Formats: sequence, C-alpha cells, structure tokens
Amino acid sequence: MLKENYLDVDANVAAACKRAGRDRSEVTLIAVSKTKPLSDIEEILDTTDCVHFGENKVQELVDKFENVSRPVHWHMIGHLQTNKVKYIVDKVDMIHSVDSLKLAETIEKEAAKRDVVANILIEVNVAEEESKFGITCDMAEGIIREVSKLPHVHICGLMTIAPFVDDAQENRIHFKRLRELFLDIKSKNIDNVDMTALSMGMTGDYAVAIEEGATMVRVGTGIFGARNYNIT
Ligand SMILES: *Cc1c(COP(=O)(O)O)cnc(C)c1O
Repeated sequence: MLKENYLDVDANVAAACKRAGRDRSEVTLIAVSKTKPLSDIEEILDTTDCVHFGENKVQELVDKFENVSRPVHWHMIGHLQTNKVKYIVDKVDMIHSVDSLKLAETIEKEAAKRDVVANILIEVNVAEEESKFGITCDMAEGIIREVSKLPHVHICGLMTIAPFVDDAQENRIHFKRLRELFLDIKSKNIDNVDMTALSMGMTGDYAVAIEEGATMVRVGTGIFGARNYNIT
C-alpha cells in the first residue's frame, strides 16, 4: 500500500530530523513518481498529505501535469535538454537539475517569454562520477555568478545525486561537502541567489542526507516500490 510506504518514509524523515536537532518543517519530502502511473499519484493524494512530486522526463511530467485531478507541486529532477525547457518552465515549482550556463540561459529565454521567474537548483556532481551530470564543486561559484545575472532565473540552492552505494554512510562525506559548498556560496551574498534549498538524499540514503542538512529529499522506490523501465 502506497499510503503505508509514504507514512513509513515520512516517519523516517521525522526521526532523522529529530536526531539532527532539526524541525520536521525544514525538510520537504518529494515523492519521485517517475515511470509510475498517474493512479499511483492519485492514491498518494487521496490517502496522505503529500503534495510534492518529482519526475525526470519532460513528456511524462507534462502528461501527469495535464491529467492529475488536483494541483500539485512538480519538481523536474532529471537531466533537461535545452529544446525541452519550453514545455515545463511554467509548470514546475523547481528545476533541480541545472548543470550548465547554456541550460540556464535557455530557461531565462523561455521564462521571460511567459513572464515567470523559474526557481532552479544547480546540480553538482559532488563525487565526480563519470556517469553523472552536474558541475564540479570548483566550477560552482563561477557558474552561479553568471546565472545570477539572468533576471527570470532564480537560484534557490544546490542539488546532488550521490553515488549508488550499499551503505548509506559512505555518502555522508559527499553530503557534507555539498553543504559546505552551499554555506560557502551563501556567505558570498550574491545578488539574486538564495542558498536555502539543499536537494540531496534518495531512497537509500535520505536519512543520512537529512542529518547532513538536506532540505529536500527525493524518494521514489521507498514510496512507490521498484521501477520497471520496460513498461513505462
Ligand atoms: C529516480 C530519482 C530519484 C529517486 O530514486 P530512488 O532511489 O528510487 O528513491 C531521486 N533523484 C533523482 C534525480 C532521480 O532520478
């Protein structure tokens, strides 16, 4: 039952906040519904207080956006191609996966056309894995300073996808590093940049991420069960 799964995760989030001496309200639990049918989202909406959903494919996000029975907060968490920005820029609360100046400039152009300001996070490949998108920690300040000049793009913080590991504790060092970068950039008080959102932690490691300061965790499998990529 999705309701039980969600409530379990929610309780784990609360417990991690407590261990870290943080208030539960500091952490947003995003239910990552990618590959799952709209009926699963509806079931969560009917049975829990969850209103934040994450998707990683533009077409799927747009389909669900158009068909969901009530308004929810959508988060684009997957790699975004510049030619697809136009389909989601006015539909999502936040784009978590901005990994280049070029992508930010495209978001600026499309947001300006629709007279909206797009909330974004800069995706950092903190563990420097070959297979992952995201900029390096060293590049972050430079890119953030450039993106901060775009009037229709608002940087709200940083995001990372930590390595896939058996023991979540192994990722603690990466979460710590991202938080340090987050605080370092925050301390520079760059105009049009807010460092308030730290999106890190997935099913395997969200508790550790919360202990290390995450303000948004993105949980898919833990809520919806395993994904089958063959029947999307
Ligand atoms: C799929 C996905 C998640 C959720 O992963 P789970 O391990 O199923 O919780 C979180 N973040 C991103 C960027 C994803 O693509």
